[in-house]
Amino acid sequence: MSSLYQNFIGGRWVPARSGRTFFNHNPATGEILGEYPASSSEDLDEAVLAAASAYRSWRLTPAPKRAEIVFRAGEIIRERKEDLARAMTREMGKVLAETRGDVQEGIDMAYLAGGEGRRMYGVTTPSEMPNKWAMSVRCPVGVAGVITPWNFPFAIPSWKLMPALVAGNTAVFKPAGDTPEMAWHFTRIFEEAGLPPGVLNLVFGSGAQVGQPMVEHPRVQVISFTGSTEVGLGINATAGKLGKRVSLEMGGKNAVIVMDDAQLDLAVEAILWSAYGTTGQRCTACSRVMVHAQVHDELARRLAERARALKLGDGLEPETQMGPLVNESQVKTVEKYVAIGRNEGQLVAGGARATDGALARGHFFQPTLFADVKSTARVATEEIFGPVLALVKIQSLEEAVAINNASAYGLSSSIFTQDVNRAFAAMRDLDTGIVYVNHGTTGAETHLPFGGTRGTGNGHREAGHTMLDPFTEWKSVYVDFSGRLQRAQIDNN
Ligand code: NAP
Ligand code: MG
Repeated sequence: MSSLYQNFIGGRWVPARSGRTFFNHNPATGEILGEYPASSSEDLDEAVLAAASAYRSWRLTPAPKRAEIVFRAGEIIRERKEDLARAMTREMGKVLAETRGDVQEGIDMAYLAGGEGRRMYGVTTPSEMPNKWAMSVRCPVGVAGVITPWNFPFAIPSWKLMPALVAGNTAVFKPAGDTPEMAWHFTRIFEEAGLPPGVLNLVFGSGAQVGQPMVEHPRVQVISFTGSTEVGLGINATAGKLGKRVSLEMGGKNAVIVMDDAQLDLAVEAILWSAYGTTGQRCTACSRVMVHAQVHDELARRLAERARALKLGDGLEPETQMGPLVNESQVKTVEKYVAIGRNEGQLVAGGARATDGALARGHFFQPTLFADVKSTARVATEEIFGPVLALVKIQSLEEAVAINNASAYGLSSSIFTQDVNRAFAAMRDLDTGIVYVNHGTTGAETHLPFGGTRGTGNGHREAGHTMLDPFTEWKSVYVDFSGRLQRAQIDNN
């Protein structure tokens, strides 16, 4: 018997009105972990109304008090870190070291966002008139609709919901169907931390049944979405017609550049981790390497050897280095791209499902490497979201930068070089939201802005000193204490 979970609406745990449910699975074993409400627009509507009602008092709660609750949630997350990490590995497959890191992002973000409650700086400035005061302040937007993916099921909700709540918004949270349990823990923790009823509401259910009605709901003032480009652009189109504010974090096709003077040992370690960590299912995962022709064959040989040696298995086993893909549909996508890649480059490692022994029960795929792929090949340009890496030969830094910047996406990029001039040129010229020097493409820190250019996003950045931007409006306030009418925007000279 699996446990039955419920939605959280207006401070109460309730089933979907229809009584329908869906199941959460362990992708390493196929085991059923829990049963969740398959909600619909009725449930969503109730949640939005609860959030709209709670907004009236939450926005007037002093920001430092709001932030204290977020900070307290961070303390609870810290106490439960290990249990949360284990639950996450069971739910979506990545190895324990990675799920611990995902939970740690929640702790870091709680402390960072908590501090924001006592900053949230506005700007005061002199008026052009005598006896007049001028300033600008941040204001909450209202009800925030938050839609998240399964690959960072604790970190991504933290990046969005913690700043949204500190800023004085209330929220409705729709997590990915593949990772409902992490969303349930997240919400429970905020309930325990003392969040008033209705400030955070959780509605489980599909993108079509809950996500789409959330985007369309007239009482939801801002949507924050992380997920695929296809869904994100659809949300953007709907929100655009409604004049609704939306912040989008979408796909990536992140590249590492390896120059002929690179420390090759370091590059191999970093590329392995960036390409096959989280089974290639990070938005910042490296899925192509532009490598100087002089070191291409050597890098391919070393990476292939190491990729073949990676130990696949259940992420809860301490010796496992790479877990399963999240579901069968991701396996099918990876299989499709591997078939395409066989005609586009030289397959030097992997290329098939991994089915030895217990692996047969889960969604496992071998770490896969294609060498000598053209920069325009599909495996070198399209997001695969699996353990598939393509090596592209380049002759110069300029060529590598041009290939990087021709991508439809612009999340993360990296360069391995010992030459400071090349490093600085790359930092200046790589058109991505994140650039690494002598480090892989993954591993962002919460106190720096996170997000991408071109097809990856729509100009917003999460976390960092930018965390409040998607969830606040600026209000300019003028106070005239002259006691007479002083007219501005006319010529007073
Ligand atoms: P997805 O299919 O786009 O789903 C993301 C979320 O949107 C899920 O909660 C999903 O619900 C929901 N959704 C689906 N259709 C919807 C609709 N019509 N209206 C509103 N919501 C809808 O993405 P995914 O497969 O879960 O995640 C993988 C993708 O996320 C990759 O492309 C990856 O690059 C991207 N990603 C980007 C970042 C970043 O920061 N740039 C970070 C992580 C992941 P269901 O789960 O119920 O379908
Ligand atoms: Mg699952």
